[in-house]
Amino acid sequence: MKKAKEKKKIGLTTKIFISLILGAIFGIILCYMVPSSHIKDDIIVEGILYVIGQGFIRLMKMLVVPLVFCSLVCGSMSIGDTKKLGTVGVRTLVFYLFTTALAVTVALSVGNIINPGVGLDMSAVQSNAADVQSMEATSLTDTLLNIIPDNPISSLANGNMLQIIVFALIVGIILAKLGERTETVGNFFSQFNDIMMEMTMMVMSLAPIGVFCLISRTFANIGFSAFVPLAKYMIGVLIALAIQCFVVYMALLKVFTGLNPVIFIKNFFPVMAFAFSTATSNATIPMSIDTLSKKMGVSKKISSFTIPLGATINMDGTAIMQGVAVVFAAQAFGIHLSMTDYLTVIGTATLASIGTAGVPSVGLVTLTMVFNSVGLPVEAIGLIMGIDRILDMTRTAVNITGDAVCTTIVANQNKALDREVFNNSGKESKKQKEMGSDVEQ
Ligand code: ASP
Repeated sequence: MKKAKEKKKIGLTTKIFISLILGAIFGIILCYMVPSSHIKDDIIVEGILYVIGQGFIRLMKMLVVPLVFCSLVCGSMSIGDTKKLGTVGVRTLVFYLFTTALAVTVALSVGNIINPGVGLDMSAVQSNAADVQSMEATSLTDTLLNIIPDNPISSLANGNMLQIIVFALIVGIILAKLGERTETVGNFFSQFNDIMMEMTMMVMSLAPIGVFCLISRTFANIGFSAFVPLAKYMIGVLIALAIQCFVVYMALLKVFTGLNPVIFIKNFFPVMAFAFSTATSNATIPMSIDTLSKKMGVSKKISSFTIPLGATINMDGTAIMQGVAVVFAAQAFGIHLSMTDYLTVIGTATLASIGTAGVPSVGLVTLTMVFNSVGLPVEAIGLIMGIDRILDMTRTAVNITGDAVCTTIVANQNKALDREVFNNSGKESKKQKEMGSDVEQ
């Protein structure tokens, strides 16, 4: 059963890759080998490919508001719950938010060095000028004030993500505070969250068709000029992910715990590989907790709280993809981003990472919210969607590594880390035996 499920997932990945390649080939053929005609231009490219591709984007957009709202209510409900854990909760939260903001900053810097979107003229594939929301310049004070929703229902209806996030966080925290009194509403949101997850899976199963149409229309319109920017975007994301994983995290680990980063990576590698192959943070939770306990000496008392929380709200890899994507889209559409825009991106991507569920491709859905926050056209997402699966796999591995590093640091601060186990990569130690019950639970 499990194998069959895994096969299905690998099947979707392969399908998306195949449709990416086929779409590119089809688009190139249309661009260079088929002469312009009514059938080619109006029926195939601007007809079938456009309608199906845009239809898929609309489906993705349909998910955003309910998905982010429910997953945030549920997420903050669990944070509220764990207030009892006091310092652990606060430390974990601060660390998660801090590393995510750092991740976006790394991504924006790498993006601006690599310039992935330079040379790509997306105005050729930009069909619907009305869709492109050019943000009016707002002052910093207004930007800050706009975070607070004056009418949450209108925020939901208009898809104002920052306001939705604030409202969802407050609802979740209050649900946790009121506990049993509001159990029904709490259950409602978790069940609605399940519905949205299922819907996301359903929409994602259409991805191969959507990707084929989006990519072939892009290539049909702009030919080979799309290859280099896409490759640059991909390399940019991978470099930023590598910096976050091997430089930022390992430096934090060394500074806060004094532990050897090489041993950490060696011990944690199987979990990273598992996350890579499934592109699902949620699925790695049990393996992460187990590995941290058995190979790194981290008490399950800490990890059983921090790891599921991290899988829900801490998505540094996802935030990195979003940061590079912002630079890519801005350059491709020739939109200049100001310093305030970059700060907005850091803020929204950090919050989007809280709202990103730990399942495949959700990062792309919440990317629309980051784009909207600075008025970038969501059409660019159609282009990067084709190559997103491999990036999704890689960023998921980084997402869960961030959770594990934070957990180890917090465990160390709370004296719930057995260094002997860590250094011996799990060979039994005296202390572990003493910690016995809680480690084994
Ligand atoms: N697949 C990612 C995860 O599970 C989320 C995403 O970026 O789409 O961590």
